[in-house]
Amino acid sequence: MLLPAIPLSHLEHLVGAPRLAEVRTALCEARRRLDGREVWHVSDNPTRGGVAELLRTTLPHLRGAGIDTRWATIEGSRAFRVFTKALYYRLCGVPANEHEDPPDPEAGRALYEQVTRAAAQRLLGVVGRRSVVVLHDHQTAGLIPYLRDAGCVVLWQCHVGTPLHAEPALPAWAFLRRYLAAAHGFIASYDGALPAGLPDAPIRILSPSINPLAPKNLPLHPAVEASRLMARIGVYRQPRPDPTGSGIGDAFAELPLRHPARIDREAGPLPMGTPLVTQVSRWDRVKDIPGVIEAFTDHVDPDFGAHLLLVGPRAAGDPQAEQVLAECREARERRPGRRGRVHLVQIPTDHPTEHALTINAIQRCSTVVIQKSLAEGFGLTVSEAAWKGRPVVASPVGGIRQQIEHGRSGLLLAHARDLSGLGAWVDRLLADPAYARELGENGRRHVRGRFLADSGVLGLARILSEVA
Ligand code: UDP
Repeated sequence: MLLPAIPLSHLEHLVGAPRLAEVRTALCEARRRLDGREVWHVSDNPTRGGVAELLRTTLPHLRGAGIDTRWATIEGSRAFRVFTKALYYRLCGVPANEHEDPPDPEAGRALYEQVTRAAAQRLLGVVGRRSVVVLHDHQTAGLIPYLRDAGCVVLWQCHVGTPLHAEPALPAWAFLRRYLAAAHGFIASYDGALPAGLPDAPIRILSPSINPLAPKNLPLHPAVEASRLMARIGVYRQPRPDPTGSGIGDAFAELPLRHPARIDREAGPLPMGTPLVTQVSRWDRVKDIPGVIEAFTDHVDPDFGAHLLLVGPRAAGDPQAEQVLAECREARERRPGRRGRVHLVQIPTDHPTEHALTINAIQRCSTVVIQKSLAEGFGLTVSEAAWKGRPVVASPVGGIRQQIEHGRSGLLLAHARDLSGLGAWVDRLLADPAYARELGENGRRHVRGRFLADSGVLGLARILSEVA
């Protein structure tokens, strides 16, 4: 995949020159030690989810520093995607289906090996034999032995979060073990992300980061209030034409929103300014979206007049996402009288910039952002919302714990299934805008300090220096 080369200097106005000087030194050292070798990243897909977002954030800066960085994705069949999704649910300790026992991963080994062998053969046609290769997540672990045998230095990076209970995840780790045994080292988002008993190799910690200059996170143009963009998406009612003729309407009309969102709701668009409580996530059981619906409808005081937006990509064509969306609809239907406050929003993905801009506006317009995951390798949505100054309420799991210092830069639930706690924190933030603002401002500072692109590039450059 073609990656742009982006100079670090683009970030200087946000993070300052001294910080970039440290990153440049680390990049120079990595480049010197790599001595012309390629660095490959391999993941399962180029667009969806946090890994794709993260690689788009950091890799262009490595290229910008003259490190020959490449990114490839493996094309799996639908059966492979179904199998690896089941494996992912297992790793997260979350049942793929409440009514059936999870399938034994061994049943999918032949399929898994067939796809990863073919992907390895394709890659070996282009990857230099002394390259450093970083393979991301369980979908690509099967490539490790082939790339190592070919002479590459192979690292496996895990973005999957620790399960609430270790036991259900053990068969999935046992499945991966024989491939992981060939890795030269592992990368994890936080200390303790990898279970005990993995094959013996160094584990390096690398926190993910967000790109403050991407359409997902850029400040929106001053002429375009986020709430007007929300009207364009269909969440809010369209504002009346601007009688002052200030031109805002014209700028707004030119926004490249060609693909309408699909919103499941009882009534039409909301009055402008209705308080919004939002979770942005893939339609995935690990994100516990039905749990968010239950917590919101049963435990958030309706007198605040807030509405719940559950936002994800268009689910059509992805049977597993459709199944989760159906479960969300059922959870909403179980709450007559309150379901009118719950909106399921699917944002089309046909046009990536438009999609990112839409998520940006939704996050900016939210009064409170939730991330109630049951497991989370990192949870980029937390940093994305905090960077926009939004107060975040989230589960105390995985990488979310690094991103939120409870009571200072966001609020953590007592545990991942704490529904009444979620309601209480949301009520507190709806009742006390000054407190919400303070948490949001601290959150933004915390993200600036640790989770912007330069931090991710610094961490990766140091790892490359070490392994080269
Ligand atoms: N995301 C998006 N559109 C959606 C839902 C999610 O662009 O409809 C993005 C979200 O903004 C974030 C990424 O997908 O950048 C999700 O990353 P995260 O680490 O939160 O979770 P993952 O999907 O990797 O489990």
